Amino acid sequence: MINKLTNYKNLFFATFLGMLGLIINLYPLPFFANVQFVLGNTFTVIVAILCGPWYALLTSILASSGLMMIWESYHVYLFFGLEAIFIGFCRRRDIYALYSSVMFWLFIGMPLFYFVGNILFNLPADHLPFVTIKQAINSLIYTSIASLLILMIPKLWLFETKIKDKKRRTLSKQMTYFITLMITLTSLFSTLYFNYTSLITQQNLIKQNQNETVFHLSNSGDQYVNHHIKAIENAAQTFSLSDPNKQKQQHALNSLHQNYPGFITMLLTDNNSKVIAGSPLTKFQLTDDMKVNDRDYFIEAFYNQKVFISSVFLGRGFGNDAIIAISAPYFNSNNPMEPQGIIEGSLNLQHFTTIDYDFKQTNTQSIVLTDEKGSIIYASDRLNLEVMSPFDYSIHAGAYKTKLNLLNIHDTDSLIPEFIYASHKMNNGWIIYLVEPFLPLLKLAEKQMFTSFVLLLFALLLSFFISHKISKLLTVPLEMVANQFGQFSEKQISTQVLDENSPKEVYSLYNRLLKSKQQLIAHQLELEETVAIRTHELESANKKLKALVDKDPLTQLYNRRYAEQKFAEIRDYCKRSEQALTVAILDLDFFKQVNDTYGHLAGDECLRQVADLLRQFYKRDVDVVARYGGEEFILILPLSNALSIEQHLNQFRLALAQMTIVAPKTKKEFSLTTSIGAITANADFNKDIDHWIKVADDNLYQAKAQGRNQVRLTIINSDLSAE
Ligand code: GH3
Ligand code: MG
Ligand code: MG
Repeated sequence: MINKLTNYKNLFFATFLGMLGLIINLYPLPFFANVQFVLGNTFTVIVAILCGPWYALLTSILASSGLMMIWESYHVYLFFGLEAIFIGFCRRRDIYALYSSVMFWLFIGMPLFYFVGNILFNLPADHLPFVTIKQAINSLIYTSIASLLILMIPKLWLFETKIKDKKRRTLSKQMTYFITLMITLTSLFSTLYFNYTSLITQQNLIKQNQNETVFHLSNSGDQYVNHHIKAIENAAQTFSLSDPNKQKQQHALNSLHQNYPGFITMLLTDNNSKVIAGSPLTKFQLTDDMKVNDRDYFIEAFYNQKVFISSVFLGRGFGNDAIIAISAPYFNSNNPMEPQGIIEGSLNLQHFTTIDYDFKQTNTQSIVLTDEKGSIIYASDRLNLEVMSPFDYSIHAGAYKTKLNLLNIHDTDSLIPEFIYASHKMNNGWIIYLVEPFLPLLKLAEKQMFTSFVLLLFALLLSFFISHKISKLLTVPLEMVANQFGQFSEKQISTQVLDENSPKEVYSLYNRLLKSKQQLIAHQLELEETVAIRTHELESANKKLKALVDKDPLTQLYNRRYAEQKFAEIRDYCKRSEQALTVAILDLDFFKQVNDTYGHLAGDECLRQVADLLRQFYKRDVDVVARYGGEEFILILPLSNALSIEQHLNQFRLALAQMTIVAPKTKKEFSLTTSIGAITANADFNKDIDHWIKVADDNLYQAKAQGRNQVRLTIINSDLSAE
């Protein structure tokens, strides 16, 4: 039942986080070109850690769907699904997520991605390593974030994990992981941030450089053209003023051409469009047939009387260069309204070759110049473009999120941009394009990414070892202290176990524990001593109490209870030592009269003196002399010699009879006698004292009856009663 509830909870959790992941994955963070960082997978890792591999797979499928929507590539399900399951299973083996993520991408993710990418992705080979490394770095980012989130939200720990053999982790392990996690995350963010800003700076630099260069090129192009137009205008004025002498004209044209080598050819016509001078002269046959009346540069300049600049065309007979013709009319020196002919220069646009040559030496930039109709006037050799063909290119506006202007020239359908470009329109409507290949920038980004990754792995290893070392500084002494105080022996704790490297806090903890343990032991010893004293006192009190219980307070003899109790013990003793046993009952004669005559106190005194006398007569340790009650006494006497007992009892009887007693008040002297009934028998006569007493009592009765002050003894057993 509980299990089912947990499952529903897990299912809900996995689905909910999967949806969150999906939404976040719809907005990946752009990094460079088409490379973006995915953060929605953070939720997949959280679920992998908390709920295990299969819930993580569910979350991963949901979150990857967000990527699927924007990237339209099924591979996301494969890689992120595998990753989720891997982290989930590692988690069950109690392996931290960051470690398992590193393992996954190093040994499974990156090789597989590279392999699959080669087959499936529409990516140039150059691009693939970059994207592969990016996947691994990306995973490290979201795994670190997920791990930290779990650390910071302790309620998440309420999930029942299925970790097998879950052991309590050591502080050292935990510290190592958390420090490694922190270092990984911070170094990841910082390297990525710096890479990102460096790439942005790089792109800005490229862009700025391109803009400046193209502007400069355009200006210089404008100047070049204007400079030559001015030259033609000035020359026309000079020819208008000068003498129409053919030789002089040819000479003037030659020197003009020398000053303006940008013109491939220059020519001068008369008012019939016949060429009258040309430079270089080798390119002209100045015959009567050489007329240019069909050319625009003649018609426009001569009939419309203005400076004419032609469109770009391929020079006929002068190589395959794109040229423009610049022409102007010159006039009769006497009549400035009457044109005498035109001067024309064919301007070679190979001028750009010189600039291009400089580029070739210093960088990878190339130029394309188009005229106002979009035909190529000039293009750098390495671009392999045909002059005067239309400049066909496609502006790249695809998935590449960059500030740069990108275009494709050769493969206009490709998703990968070929060139970064900048363009500028010249005054005459021409457009100049500056292009440079995109690949070096990509390579730079890739190199940075790769370096970051290697450095990151290195930092990870280093931080792992260092944090392990640091945490050991704390945990080893702590463990020592714990071990030390686990053993409870005085000798062990008195020796110092912590070395000088132990942290101060642990050292002071150790000392405090040591002190309190010593106090505890001292206290314990004190307690033991007190208990010993108390026990001794109690024992002696008990002894006194016992004596009180066993003794008769008046005579200080044992009482009846004690005598009866002791009987069994004495009988056993006699049985073992094969001795006979005598039980005798003494009853004082006419004691009532003593009380009556001398008072009760005198009676008591009597009893005390009889007791003293009994003690004198029966002083062996084995003898029991007890007050049996009133003025009666009992004797239990083990005997080695049974035959002398009667004599001994009679000796006592006589001694008592001769004893003088002084009454305490009246000081009157008197004496008294006793009757004695006794039994002597072997120990096995009877184990019950009552039988012995009965015989002794009977004898006592007889003694009283026959006149008192006498001993009556019964000896039982054949060998005892032999007499
Ligand atoms: P008999 O020779 O027949 O034994 O005569 P008796 O007077 O001793 O007779 P009995 O045994 O009947 O009387 C015992 C008397 O002993 C009765 C009582 O007053 C007296 N007595 C018993 N215990 C004490 C005692 O502790 N102190 C004193 N002063 N008298 C006692
Ligand atoms: Mg009596
Ligand atoms: Mg009596």
